[in-house]
Amino acid sequence: MLYHFVEITFENKILKKVEYDLNDKTQLTEEMQLKTFEEMNLIAPLQRALKNEQYKTPTPIQAKTIPVAISGRDVLGCAQTGTGKTAAFALPILNHLGQRNRKAVSRRPFVLVLAPTRELAIQIANSFSTYGKHLKLRQALVYGGVGQGNQVRAMNRGAHILVATPGRLLDLMNQDHINLDQIEMVVLDEADRMLDMGFLPDVKRILSRLPGNRQTLFFSATMPPSIDNLAKRMLTQPVKVQIQSKSVSVDKIEQKVLFLKRDKKQESLQSIVTADDAGQVLVFTKTKRGADAVARKLDRSGIKTAAIHGNKSQNARQRALDAFRAYRVQVLVATDVAARGIDVDGITHVVNFDLPIDPESYVHRIGRTGRAGASGIAISFCTDGERRELREIQKLLGNKVRLITDHSHSPSEQHPRSSMPHAKGSTTPRSTPRRPSSRRSSTRPFAQASTSNGKPKNKRKQRKGRNARLRIKQASK
Ligand code: AMP
Repeated sequence: MLYHFVEITFENKILKKVEYDLNDKTQLTEEMQLKTFEEMNLIAPLQRALKNEQYKTPTPIQAKTIPVAISGRDVLGCAQTGTGKTAAFALPILNHLGQRNRKAVSRRPFVLVLAPTRELAIQIANSFSTYGKHLKLRQALVYGGVGQGNQVRAMNRGAHILVATPGRLLDLMNQDHINLDQIEMVVLDEADRMLDMGFLPDVKRILSRLPGNRQTLFFSATMPPSIDNLAKRMLTQPVKVQIQSKSVSVDKIEQKVLFLKRDKKQESLQSIVTADDAGQVLVFTKTKRGADAVARKLDRSGIKTAAIHGNKSQNARQRALDAFRAYRVQVLVATDVAARGIDVDGITHVVNFDLPIDPESYVHRIGRTGRAGASGIAISFCTDGERRELREIQKLLGNKVRLITDHSHSPSEQHPRSSMPHAKGSTTPRSTPRRPSSRRSSTRPFAQASTSNGKPKNKRKQRKGRNARLRIKQASK
């Protein structure tokens, strides 16, 4: 498998793409003159709408996706919200429909856009209305949690474009209110979030009802294996567009891998969180249930903790994030997809309670600490069953970030808790010195958070942790 990071810079209409292949350490630089919206052959009503919106130049994802999609090719887009992704698929769709000038057919839309949440579906529908305001096209919006009457009526009247969440769409299809046999273009947006929210079986069922000769535009911020498989099933010779708005720098992050038994994870986490150098701690788990369990146990032990994952409502997630940002909780436990967009300053530690399956997620996770030039600590727990994931991470990052595998730190081995920061208030120094280098793993050792006399190495970090805890106490009074 090829792992690469793409850094996009955009200046004076020149898109400079630097692609780092982390397997063979090559660097590929490509510069291209971006097309303006005028040069993209979009129909006049769309050009007018873009002028109304005062969009002057396309964003990188638009510059790369729109011409390809207009040519009729399938697109596999790796991009997050905020990159201009919606217009990247909405404009080619509106261009296609606007050129044909047909009447909408009752219950049989021409275009389907699938989104994981009601909020995103509404946002997408608003974008279609904005960009398509000079066209005579109709759209319908279908999502759960509300009565179906209005949605059924809209489908009966006929809509060119249907924007839907998977569950309600299947419901209405099963009641024969919607038929997808006329679909010409389909968009799957935020596919990885669909997976996180458990929609994949529904999505597959919907896909099986689409005609084979449609055009597909597939978007996902990350590409875990099950999403990669889905993309392969859905797409025909797609053009891949990968946009990463910010390059990920992990140089300032101290990384550590801790080998331990599964049943020691919670205890080890607790030691990290209560150590003197710990301030705000972000913990990643593989599953939603895991996130809840870890958060519950920490909270019960008196550490203020919140959890965010795909099963929580948007409001609940926002509340948890706000509390974390305002130091009302010290620990936030998250799954990968729910943690997307977490941009909180002052995270001193990222703990990988479970290693991610997809090694690129590792980089995204640990990048949550060390923001804005600050340093940070990333600690990953690794059980015997997770060594494959660790190998993948090492393959991706190599020695560049000095990923350390040091068995002497295992709490379950000869020197219990030797590598663990000592508990808050404890006077016991961390006594175990490092083993001689011959006993360490082949990779270079990772700088420890404390010296052999038990004193934290970095006084500033220690103070930062104490201050953070103080703020939490005050905020929770
Ligand atoms: P999205 O990633 O689709 O959610 O878009 C993020 C924001 O960027 C939205 O508020 C859009 O209105 C805005 N936007 C999208 N494309 C452009 C563009 N070419 N120029 C300026 N703003 C844009």
